[in-house]
Amino acid sequence: MLTPRVFISLIKVMKLMNKRFQSVAKLLSMVVIGVASSVHAAEVVNVYSARHYDTDLEVYKNFETSTGIKINLIEAASDTLIERIVNEGKYSPADLLITVDAGRLYRAEDRDIFAPAGSELLDQRVPAHLRHPDGLWYGLSKRARVIIYRKEDGEPEALNTYLDLAKPEFEGQICVRSSSNIYNISLLASLVSHLGEEAAEDWTKSVVANFFRKPQGNDTANIRAVASGECRVSIVNSYYIARLIDNDDADGSAVGIIFPNQDSTGTHVNISGGGLLKHAPNRDNAIKLLEYLTEADAQSLYVKGNHEYPIVGDAEVVGVLQNLGSFKEDTINASALGENQATAVQIFDRAGWY
Ligand code: FE
Repeated sequence: MLTPRVFISLIKVMKLMNKRFQSVAKLLSMVVIGVASSVHAAEVVNVYSARHYDTDLEVYKNFETSTGIKINLIEAASDTLIERIVNEGKYSPADLLITVDAGRLYRAEDRDIFAPAGSELLDQRVPAHLRHPDGLWYGLSKRARVIIYRKEDGEPEALNTYLDLAKPEFEGQICVRSSSNIYNISLLASLVSHLGEEAAEDWTKSVVANFFRKPQGNDTANIRAVASGECRVSIVNSYYIARLIDNDDADGSAVGIIFPNQDSTGTHVNISGGGLLKHAPNRDNAIKLLEYLTEADAQSLYVKGNHEYPIVGDAEVVGVLQNLGSFKEDTINASALGENQATAVQIFDRAGWY
């Protein structure tokens, strides 16, 4: 029976429950707001990168510290990442693709995964020939593809250009890596641009005729082959030599460098670079990161840590890289390297440079 006493107690209990309910509700709303604001505060940028260098990790850490934006990094081979982005389609979490060689940036562009970054800052900082005309990708660092020789045997006479490698006096003296490698494809693509397809093919055939052995190994293996006297000359990327020298590896100092084409088109340079992705969920942060990578601090880390040349003028070339010497670079548009990629591959096949 509901006596007045019991009724009053019931009311008290209900009031208490109501109070508890209110505090629980208050607590819940605080949690919800907290979660919501932490989602908002947790600024991120998701980077798919085909560069596997410790230097990059240092640059990313600096970016996180200075902006509070967290970088989620996935590293894999360039073609794997491009394929993954294509397959993920509009649900891709990736904001930025970073890779090496204009030829690979072209492959990504060809799969229609980039979007224009529309950054005036990037357009100002990155020279026109080292970025996509519509801002689909930007060069972030440079590397030169140079000719090397064994210092002990002296600098070969009359070897000043890529074309000189086709001279009969170098018969049986050239070691170089396979033509499936993008660095060689881009070099030949530049020659196709400058000389035309026919002359580029003649050159390729003559160089093949001068091979000491079938193309093999990576650039470092070919530096070692020249250093040991197995082959007289090779074509390699500049940073591999600088890296060996920096590691006090005698093979690095055993080779001399020729920056080809100084009296004509300039030495072939390639870029590592990045582009904003079409379905980027964190577009603004991706652009911020691209811009950061062209700032002097990041640029000098590329130089010091990875022996790459800076893409912007105000970053200093120091250390081993400075000792390699300065040179005139080929200012052909990096896009042309991609456009002539298919032609270059066909020439390599016809010429027997496998
Ligand atoms: Fe490399």
